[in-house]
This record gives sequence, C-alpha cells and structure tokens, in this order.
Amino acid sequence: MHKLSPEDIARLHDGTRLAVAGRHADEAFGFVNPPVYHGSTVLHPTTRDLVEHTNRYAYGRRGSPTMTALREAVGALEGGAGVVLCPSGLSAVSTALLSCLKAGDHLLVTDSAYDPIRAFCDSVLTRFGVEVSYYDPLIGADIARLFRPETRAVLTESPGSLTFEVQDIPAIAEAAHARDIVVLLDNTWATPLFFPAHARGVDISIWSGTKYLSGHSDVMFGTVSANARHWRALIKTHGDTGLTVGPDDVYLALRGLRTLGVRLAAHQQSALEIARWLETRPEVSRVLYPALESHPGHALWKRDFLGATGLFSIVLKPVPFKAVEAFLDHLSFFGLGYSWGGFESLAIPFDAAPYRTATKWEPEGPTIRLQIGLEDVRDLRSDLEKGFERLNAAAAV
Ligand SMILES: *Cc1c(COP(=O)(O)O)cnc(C)c1O
Repeated sequence: MHKLSPEDIARLHDGTRLAVAGRHADEAFGFVNPPVYHGSTVLHPTTRDLVEHTNRYAYGRRGSPTMTALREAVGALEGGAGVVLCPSGLSAVSTALLSCLKAGDHLLVTDSAYDPIRAFCDSVLTRFGVEVSYYDPLIGADIARLFRPETRAVLTESPGSLTFEVQDIPAIAEAAHARDIVVLLDNTWATPLFFPAHARGVDISIWSGTKYLSGHSDVMFGTVSANARHWRALIKTHGDTGLTVGPDDVYLALRGLRTLGVRLAAHQQSALEIARWLETRPEVSRVLYPALESHPGHALWKRDFLGATGLFSIVLKPVPFKAVEAFLDHLSFFGLGYSWGGFESLAIPFDAAPYRTATKWEPEGPTIRLQIGLEDVRDLRSDLEKGFERLNAAAAV
C-alpha cells in the first residue's frame, strides 16, 4: 500500500480520509490496525537516550502509538494544528477553556450550552478568578456589545444539544477576532464531518467522542483540536494537568471513527424521515431539527453545515406529564437514558428552563429529545406511533 502524506490525506473525500488517516501498517508488522499499547514506563536503550529524550515516546501518560493513530485520524478530520485526547467530552471542554483563560479574564458562554459545562464554568472557573457570563445563542455579530476589555474567550455550541438554536459562528468569530478574543465551539452534534469548525472561524474545536465518534455507547471520550495560534497552549495545558486516556478506550474510539461517515449518513436519513413525519402528527407542536425548512435556524444551517445528525427535540402540544410518561414508558426501541450518538435510539423528557440565565425557555408544551439510531426507520416510526396512542389515551382520562 502506497503511503500518503498528511497533505495527501487532507485532500481526500471524507469516507476515504476516515479509512486511511492515522494508519501505519509498516510500524505494526503489516497489521491493518495499531496494537493496543498498555504501558506506563517506556525503556530507553542508553542513559544518554533517557536524559536526552531521543525516544519518540517517553512515558505512557504522554502518548503511545495507539494514541498517535487516533490523534492523527481526528486531526485529519479537523484540519487544525493538532489534537489532544481527553477522558470525557466534559474534560475536553474544561481542558480547552483552561488552555486559554487566566485569573481576571472574562468568558462568554452560550445560554444553550450543555448544562454540566455551566457547572464547570460557574463553580471551578469562577473559583480561580475568571468571570463568566451567558449570552443569547442567537446573538450573532451583536456579541461585540458584550465584549469588555478583559473578555478573553467565547464558548459556542451549535446547535444547542437540547434546544437546537443554530448560532452564526462566522459572525461571532469575526467580531471576536477583531478584539483578539478566542472562539471555542462544542461541535459534538455536527462532528467535524458536518461542521468544519476551523474553516468557519473557530480557534478551538471540541468534540465529545462519547457520542458519534465512538458510536457504540461503550466509551467515555473527548477530543480538542486547536488552530496554529492556540495549539501550543492547548498541548501544554493538557500535559500539565495530567490528562490521559486508557488504551482500550482509545482503540474503541479509533475503531468507531472508521465507520463514522456511513453511520452519520444513516442517522441523518432516518432522523430526517422521522422528523418530517413528526411534523405531521397532531400531538406535536414543533420539531426542533435544523435540517427542517420549518426550523428558525434552517437558513444558517444550510449555509454553514454539511449535514445533520440523528439528534433532535420535539415540543408537544400541552398534555399532563402522565401522558408524556405513557408515551415514553413501554417504547420498544427508544431507551430512556442520557447521552446519545450510539447505534441505538434514545428518548428523554427535558426542561431547559431552570438553568437558563440570559434567555427564557418557554415551550408551549412538554419537550422530548430523541436520538434516532440505526434501527430500521419503519420500526422506529411504528414504535412512536404506538407511543402517541398511549399518550392520547392517558391525556383523555
Ligand atoms: C455529551 C456532551 C458533552 C459531554 O461529553 P461526555 O463525554 O458525556 O463528558 C459535551 N457537550 C455536548 C454537546 C454533549 O452532548
């Protein structure tokens, strides 16, 4: 097999890039996949090698060939200056923020951010002297009005993974860069395949690999990619805080990555079909899926994104909570559980109102988030259809 350079790989189409990036069969006796290196100590042939760090690898926490394979493969998708691996998506967000903030700085966070990120900002960052404030996810270029002399970073998430506001990332990036402010994006919903973060102006791109990257609901994992300007600070912070990921989880993430393209295409196709059908249901008031023409963020989504993944929410017409329970309980294919991005469908009721501080979340009825998995879409639809029958029966008594 002819070996491609990183530049060759960067020019490939997505499916091919996913298949070839990070592979070094020549270093693994011809085996297609890298070995899973379990290790802390790395032995050096001589004292001089040890003290002069001549080995490619020095210590298990700092890297292994298994980690290198995954970092290269994710790097080929992100197109930044480098990628670090983190033990969860949340630790990827916290590492990214720690890499660009110091005491006295001001951080702007979208009000639609994944809720545990708010806890990190409000309880940890503030304890170390960073001031955190929240902004309307739909603010666009007007974010400039919120900038203070000490504003250092803006955290975005588009779309919000419960409420699905699509942010104008290029406009926010332009305003921020005019003031030398760092733009971070939680790109977990779209993945680098459907939203090329760095090309849209994002400096630091964060991905919870627990979701579509690993894709099988069996790994906790996250990645951070930085452009050239922010890479040195990111890799230094990551090393200084002692983060590492176990080799089996790294391997599972790499294995998931190889099929990311075909899985996302299937999630998208089924999600779009279910979302369009849900729009016609009398029990549903709105479907919050940016790929639908009816979604308020559809034009931005069409301009900036290359696809839509399998996660969206619905707002029901007003019914008592017991009707929502009747809908959700006894679903055959939609499991009731947090997280998403695996092969299997999921459903959760949610209420974003309690934690919002910059905007109000006031839906006209109960809200449910669905992850459309890789099951046959006809089975998913009939499962939801039976759920609506239960919902109507429970609402009637
Ligand atoms: C799940 C999720 C995270 C956190 O990822 P974990 O791997 O669960 O820590 C961060 N951001 C978004 C948008 C998520 O959905």
